[in-house]
Amino acid sequence: MRSSPDGRRRVLLFDVDGTLVHAAGAGRRSLERVLLAELGRIDGALAGLRLDGMTDRLIVREVLAALGRPFDDALCDRVLDAYVEVLRSEIEGPGFRVLPGVAELLADLAGEGAVLGLCTGNVPEGARLKLRRGGLDAYFEWGPSAIAGFAPDGEARERVLRAALRRGAERLGALRPSDALVIGDTPRDVAAARAEGVPVLAVATGRFAAGELRDAGADAVLPTLEGAAASLLAWAAGRGPLPGA
Ligand SMILES: [Mg+2]
Repeated sequence: MRSSPDGRRRVLLFDVDGTLVHAAGAGRRSLERVLLAELGRIDGALAGLRLDGMTDRLIVREVLAALGRPFDDALCDRVLDAYVEVLRSEIEGPGFRVLPGVAELLADLAGEGAVLGLCTGNVPEGARLKLRRGGLDAYFEWGPSAIAGFAPDGEARERVLRAALRRGAERLGALRPSDALVIGDTPRDVAAARAEGVPVLAVATGRFAAGELRDAGADAVLPTLEGAAASLLAWAAGRGPLPGA
């Protein structure tokens, strides 16, 4: 593991959808199938939602609200468990792709001993299935002690990020918010990072343009993650600014 000159370790926390991979609607299709089976009708409630940057539990809550149904935790847990089972096949559908530069970036970062984590609104197994489809899951740790935040950590992305920071601190001894970096593709990633005092690198490979991400308050913005390894490694070592700053 690389340390910065002052001995502190820096952690890179990646979002999944729109940042590392494009799942081509597999998550939405899976959730639609499960909600339809569970509720009998969904009346296009999911179609009207912009899911980008939303956590999975929040998506379920909003669909239920749109249908005038009360939210309940047991129902949400059941829906998300079933969702993962459907996603196993849906993720194999056409259109899935690893986003530009991501495979090389993760290989380079891991090869240099950078500390890689996840900060995503996916449930853990959903994130794992999406990353496995792209051959990227082995770059991340899984299980309760992994430096990561997922949907079960809270409906608001801020809570997901806080969980990732807490697990990072448990693993590394200490982790200041300024020693973590959120890498995400939506204004929601940016807002959560800013709320927690974590720097944020936004990448315009999702639905949002660079200008929108800059306006949202990102510290740095890149069109893609292509060629970002050297400067991200320099930042992680405390020796350089963020790429795209
Ligand atoms: Mg995303």
